Amino acid sequence: MTKNYKQLNPSTRVLLGPGPSNVHPRVLKAMSTPLVGHLDPDFLEVMNETMELLRCVFQTRNELTIPMSGTGSAGMETLFVNLLEPGDKAVVCINGLFGQRMADIVERCGAELVTVEGEWGRIIEPDQVEEALKKAGGAKIVAIVHAETSTGVRQPLEEISKIAKKYDALFLVDTVTSLGGMEVKVDEWGIDASYSGTQKCLSCPPGLSPVTFSERAREVIKKRKTKVQSWYLDLSMIQNYWGKERFYHHTAPISMNYALREALMLIHEEGLEARFARHERNSKALTAGLEAMGLEMIAQEGYRLPSLHAVKIPEGIDDAKTRKMLLEEFNIEIGGGLGDFKGKAWRIGLMGYSSTKNNVFLVLSALEAVLKAQGYKVEEGAGVKAAQEAYGF
Ligand SMILES: *Cc1c(COP(=O)(O)O)cnc(C)c1O
Repeated sequence: MTKNYKQLNPSTRVLLGPGPSNVHPRVLKAMSTPLVGHLDPDFLEVMNETMELLRCVFQTRNELTIPMSGTGSAGMETLFVNLLEPGDKAVVCINGLFGQRMADIVERCGAELVTVEGEWGRIIEPDQVEEALKKAGGAKIVAIVHAETSTGVRQPLEEISKIAKKYDALFLVDTVTSLGGMEVKVDEWGIDASYSGTQKCLSCPPGLSPVTFSERAREVIKKRKTKVQSWYLDLSMIQNYWGKERFYHHTAPISMNYALREALMLIHEEGLEARFARHERNSKALTAGLEAMGLEMIAQEGYRLPSLHAVKIPEGIDDAKTRKMLLEEFNIEIGGGLGDFKGKAWRIGLMGYSSTKNNVFLVLSALEAVLKAQGYKVEEGAGVKAAQEAYGF
């Protein structure tokens, strides 16, 4: 007996979770561009333009600004395995799941981990970082998450960057859910190394992880005494492929690089300011709508992300049932809670191509229907009405 495999035909979803976000048709089209070899002169041109466009979104002049092959997590690992050697001390700020992951990687590098712990949903205070640096003595790096996707918190960076400099530590930042959705000023904010991902606010499928390293960080890599324990993520070799030498290291995922270049082109055409304003406007309208429906935002006021909204699940409402109904009845994906917030929070993303007025109205009205079906008391159309007001209709 032979199994009859059906043609691939997944549903068309509205992706309003913590990533991936919806992808612009031009990006999908770019992915179907015929392949060339990874050393083809045409591809070298694509690489050069991609690096140029990446420097624009990172707002940096860092020469070493490239997409690593792999999702955001590969970028996270790239920073730590290249900058840390066994026995080094690393200060890691933890106020959500992604901070925890950085700490896990630091330990796997054989480095000495010093944590700064903050409540989930609140920012890390600069004083806490200074205290940890003082206590640690001679820490090589300070690592923090700019946009904590597990809690919806937007972490201010400038003051902490200054403190890291004062203690002569490199400043590492996770910009996976901020890059392309809000300001990330690598040079102005004194960030020494950062990693992001293609599937969040860059609105490209998952698969590449843009990273950037300052000259100071590159010096540290150059002076390593031990080999980087990961062969695949070793920048000393990878920068010879993306740099002038163009030495083969591994075969670059050609189609994914086409996609990233197109996604970055779309950002370039829209303009960073306009793009950030769009994210801000849609986020404000969504938040107004959710609050008008009696729902509570989790992240500390004044420090909320425009790209991800963590919402407290009201008493008596079933988490899984709500998300299942949104998916099955309305084709909308939102995220559930992670770690400490499992079963307690929903995460509604408005990232990149998914951050639109249409999606704000869609998710507010669908959520109203789904909550009402579970007996939740909400004034009819309250969410949509508040969003309209926020937009000034
Ligand atoms: C999504 C995410 C990651 C991991 O990215 P993957 O693409 O899932 O590997 C890391 N950090 C943050 C803040 C994220 O939101």
